[in-house]
Amino acid sequence: MSNFAERKPHAVLTPYPLQGHINPMLKLAKLLHFRGFHITFVNTEYNHKLLLKSMGPKAFDGFTDFIFETIPDGLTPMDGDGDLSRDFQSLRESIRKNVIYPFRELLTRLHDSAKSGLIPPVTCLVSDSFMSVTIQVAEEFALPVVLLVPSSACSFLSALHFRTLIEKGIIPLKDESYLTNGYLDTKVDWIPGLQNFRLKDLLAFIRTTNPNDLMIEFIIEVVDRFNRASAIVFNTSNDLESDVMNALISMFPSLYTIGPFTSFLNQSPHNHLTSLDSNLWKEDNKCLEWLESKEPGSTVYVNFGSTTVMSLEKLLEFAWGLANSKKPFLWIIRPDLVIGGSVVFSSEFVNEISNRGLIVGWCSQEKVLNHPSIGGFLTHCGWNSTIESICAGVPMLCWPFFADQPTNCRYICNKWEIGIEIHTNVKREEVEKLVNELMVEEKGKKMRQKIDKLKKKAEEDTRPGGGSYMNLDKVIKETNIEWE
Ligand code: UDP
Repeated sequence: MSNFAERKPHAVLTPYPLQGHINPMLKLAKLLHFRGFHITFVNTEYNHKLLLKSMGPKAFDGFTDFIFETIPDGLTPMDGDGDLSRDFQSLRESIRKNVIYPFRELLTRLHDSAKSGLIPPVTCLVSDSFMSVTIQVAEEFALPVVLLVPSSACSFLSALHFRTLIEKGIIPLKDESYLTNGYLDTKVDWIPGLQNFRLKDLLAFIRTTNPNDLMIEFIIEVVDRFNRASAIVFNTSNDLESDVMNALISMFPSLYTIGPFTSFLNQSPHNHLTSLDSNLWKEDNKCLEWLESKEPGSTVYVNFGSTTVMSLEKLLEFAWGLANSKKPFLWIIRPDLVIGGSVVFSSEFVNEISNRGLIVGWCSQEKVLNHPSIGGFLTHCGWNSTIESICAGVPMLCWPFFADQPTNCRYICNKWEIGIEIHTNVKREEVEKLVNELMVEEKGKKMRQKIDKLKKKAEEDTRPGGGSYMNLDKVIKETNIEWE
């Protein structure tokens, strides 16, 4: 007989080892902790070292019911201070082959500790959808699995149709010319739930001419594991993506929108975990001080996330577009943002922006987005950035780069009408014009009103009685199965 009332449920969480995946998983871990869960959060050894480096050696100490564990990612270990970065394909391949064994060992160890009464028995696995190799191990231990999809539901829906795209002869593209000859503007009217979509709005992984493309293979493999999960959860709300959710629910009955996590956490009482973060790069807090000197709603925040890269030529188009707009801007330029090297701006540019522009290497994005001086966000449309911007009520300028970003961009600009897209082949004149449209013109004002409504709706959804709040309750109930 179960005795949940007497002991805590225990969730083991396995994020995929990339910034945009660790962040939502940590937020979900905090939400579960608020609901009384004991948490084991599993990072790769490599990322754990980066996290300690950026947040300090004691960042994870002192939490008794929120424990961090590590497993190797199977690639060369980080050597001292060396920064042997992981390229996506080797990481993907290595995780597929090398994670099962150490993860099995970890679960065995947790099982033994629970038997000795040191920790509550593990009651469920919460795994990133990309990390779903862990399902096999969870099944060996008869654990229910919750899959967290850290992307938008609309992009997930397009992933579900990759097989059909292959059958229809759309993937792979016939040749490279199909990337630029207008073919990607072809309407896609055969995916229920996606309206006014074109091929270019689907997951960017379809833009391949390779019949053996590894990413396509990976996505299909990930999607095939979905029916083995007890529940599938999204960091979105029903209200934001209702058409898509209606289509998805008919395929997966145990699918739940339980977001936005940010909105949930903003409304939760503060505790010792509130300030716990998951930055792989060190935050530069002087930007928050700098923002204090700017007028409310006056400043453009520019950040292309953790994986986007661009040529120096494109970066300079953005730089001069921002400078010529004459609006204050805070720009986060990661050390590896520019392909093939670091950025040195000309003294002409530095003089031009003087104290109107600030450039730093990494920031606490949510603190920045919620600063009253921020009036617009120039973003690559990663799903976390998109949802964080909605929760902060900040309209967007969109420059999608790859993966799910074009899909999110379509939703931002056409479905929700809270952003304006910048052409892939960015030019400074366009940046200057669109920054002004967003920051001062009528179009921007309307977008601000629309995003404010979405923000308020997200707050309602994540309050007791709201849709996402009740969905989280259901997920917890359905997966709280005692481990024998
Ligand atoms: N982020 C941050 N500071 C930065 C850049 C990014 O805190 O300077 C966080 C951001 O808040 C978000 C995540 O990193 O939670 C990026 O995820 P997203 O899905 O937007 O893009 P990705 O990095 O996966 O392309």
